[in-house]
Amino acid sequence: MQQINRTEISTLGEFGLIKRLTTGIEPVHPETRYGIGDDAAVLSYPDKPVLVTTDLLMEGIHFDLQYTPLKHLGYKAAIINFSDIYAMNGTPKQMTVSIAISKRFCVEDMEELYAGIRLACRAYNVDLVGGDTAPSVTGLAISITCIGEAEPGRVVYRNGARTTDLICVSGDLGAAYMGLQLLEREKAVFRGKQEIDPDFSGKEYILERQLKPEARKDIVAALAQAGIKPTAMMDISDGLSSELMHICSQSNTGCRIYEDRLPIDYQTAVMAEEFNMNVTTCALNGGEDYELLFTVPLVLHEKIQDMSGVKEIGYITEPELGRALITRDGQELELKAQGWNPLKETS
Ligand code: ADP
Ligand code: MG
Repeated sequence: MQQINRTEISTLGEFGLIKRLTTGIEPVHPETRYGIGDDAAVLSYPDKPVLVTTDLLMEGIHFDLQYTPLKHLGYKAAIINFSDIYAMNGTPKQMTVSIAISKRFCVEDMEELYAGIRLACRAYNVDLVGGDTAPSVTGLAISITCIGEAEPGRVVYRNGARTTDLICVSGDLGAAYMGLQLLEREKAVFRGKQEIDPDFSGKEYILERQLKPEARKDIVAALAQAGIKPTAMMDISDGLSSELMHICSQSNTGCRIYEDRLPIDYQTAVMAEEFNMNVTTCALNGGEDYELLFTVPLVLHEKIQDMSGVKEIGYITEPELGRALITRDGQELELKAQGWNPLKETS
């Protein structure tokens, strides 16, 4: 993690560091009237709903720098915010980045972090319009706020699901969680011995899902292209089970999803078996998939079937029927929100 070429942050000072990290950043959107350099950025969105989302990432809680390269961390920190804007059926346009840095980090480290942030901004066409920089006693903290726009009348909330709606998910589930398990295992091995080169071949997909996730911009575009406005939508950051519970409780409905319909990648299944874990549990409760979970009226069944990268996994019911998973052998299991949440009480 430590850079060979190490410039102490104190040699540049706060303003010098901000300048180093933000040189050459030019806004591309007409809605960004003014970006970095004044007391506040200036945005202009005539007659459109504006979406605002924010995420705070703490070292040791949300990321581990022993196996997360800083460039990947910067990229991922941006992506998780873009994902929240897409989950509202919007388009991310601007963001601010605030960082708290301890003395352990040098200028080159922060440049790596910003290389990832800049890459994400370019890939998703988002202007970096400001931020804040502060010292920290221990560790690194990153807070990103993202601003986006939606077309009038096109914002999708969590509370719009209705009985008989189809429940759909994009991509596949549980891979990022298995990637995390693999990295944690290798970290433990590393601690024991020095000269070990972990063999990650055949596991690239799950590692990429953990270290370099993408936001489903393509799915939001495909839905718009097909003329579909979901009745409810959210992104899957804490695990399918927990997110589906949010949609059901906010929409006041029940649901049925089918175990044999859950989209799971081959590498996820192989890894789960290696760890002696139930792959369905991983798909239901593993976090950080950043896929989209949404509901659409039943009449759209054929249109959804024609969309690539989207799978129907069940349907919305009356609230009295509860929320359940139908297993492969036809049993009904009550869904529980076991999503990853470090703030919940531990027994
Ligand atoms: P203030 O004193 O108003 O907080 P700063 O000196 O912190 O202003 O910031 C100067 C400019 O640099 C502002 O436009 C601010 O948004 C931007 N900025 C500060 N820190 C960062 C950062 N970590 N990333 C991006 N922009 C930043
Ligand atoms: Mg400041």
